[in-house]
Amino acid sequence: MKIIKLSIDALEIPFIERFRHSLKDRTFSDSVIVRVETDTGHVGYGEGVPRPYVTGETVHSVVQHITGVLWPQISNEMIHSRSIVELLMRLVPLSNLGENHNAARCAVETALIDASLKGDAIGLHDILPARLPFVTYSGVITAGSPKSVYKRASQLKRIALNHVKIKVGVHNAIECVAAAREALGEQVVIRVDANSSWSLKEAIEILHALNRYRVSSCEEPLPAREWKQLAMLRQATSIPLMADESLLSIEDAQSMVDHQAIDLFNIRLSKCGGIGPSLRIIDFARKNNIGYQIGAHVGETAILSSIGRHFAAYVGDAQFVEGSYGTLLLTEDIARTSPRFGHKGVGRLIKGHGIGVKILEERIIKYSVLHLDLMP
Ligand SMILES: [Mg+2]
Repeated sequence: MKIIKLSIDALEIPFIERFRHSLKDRTFSDSVIVRVETDTGHVGYGEGVPRPYVTGETVHSVVQHITGVLWPQISNEMIHSRSIVELLMRLVPLSNLGENHNAARCAVETALIDASLKGDAIGLHDILPARLPFVTYSGVITAGSPKSVYKRASQLKRIALNHVKIKVGVHNAIECVAAAREALGEQVVIRVDANSSWSLKEAIEILHALNRYRVSSCEEPLPAREWKQLAMLRQATSIPLMADESLLSIEDAQSMVDHQAIDLFNIRLSKCGGIGPSLRIIDFARKNNIGYQIGAHVGETAILSSIGRHFAAYVGDAQFVEGSYGTLLLTEDIARTSPRFGHKGVGRLIKGHGIGVKILEERIIKYSVLHLDLMP
């Protein structure tokens, strides 16, 4: 089948409540949705999440990259689910001029996958078969006061989540983790995410103090790509360090291993460029004895929630999985059924053709703040 049309919609879906961390205060989802149409009448949906402080992308740069670089590569191309791997690798963006277009690539890649799978009347689970019976999600607590962290942790305790991540800054990180540990009890696995907010000195001091609360890992403690400092911190703490903003590509992964700077990777589909590049980083992690989690961007819609579910079930050995918040965070999702997790963080496997969710076009129209159609 051939791709005969590609549409881009930048969405703004309000959150039920604001989400905050040290780099951003967020009140709505700003995903970019790509819709592709084939000459056989099939429609595929993909999603990317531009984050200026992560990949350097904006809605504007995503639109420009899709229009100017990706669309000319795929318009009128024959696609087929059996050749999709080849197509995915071909779409790996050139790292020219140090620019990164991972969210744009993820949006187009996932739309192509959805369309080609539907064309063959098969589902994502057919090309990425599940190794797990279900996926278990972590809860994530937004940055705030110890009191607000305690309240949120108590809510997560009531739905019996076993893994919780807390967003922390410089000033009250220790108090917030103490509050979370008190609310969650001794059994729950707690990790922290500093979102690049600490200096090396602060990181050493804070992580030393956090030892007593049994924190299982610390994500992005230092400014991104400070490999030497990260290696020094790793020597100074027994808490495993996880790379997030520092990990956009296989080259980043290699640099961290070369510097012996990291224990864990946070692999997020949009941040890493989609399914193809994310699988390459996981392959690299396994070969280098680096553990990893499957992360998500705050405010992902049903599209990335569903793909993330398939992906986590397929890889099978992620230490933690985030995402699938759906209508726990969004006032409305864009699928008939929002694939959010339930009690104990359990997300059931998703079946059905394509990525397995029924997208409601009227919801995309309702929340779209920018629409563009591309045709050959
Ligand atoms: Mg993070």
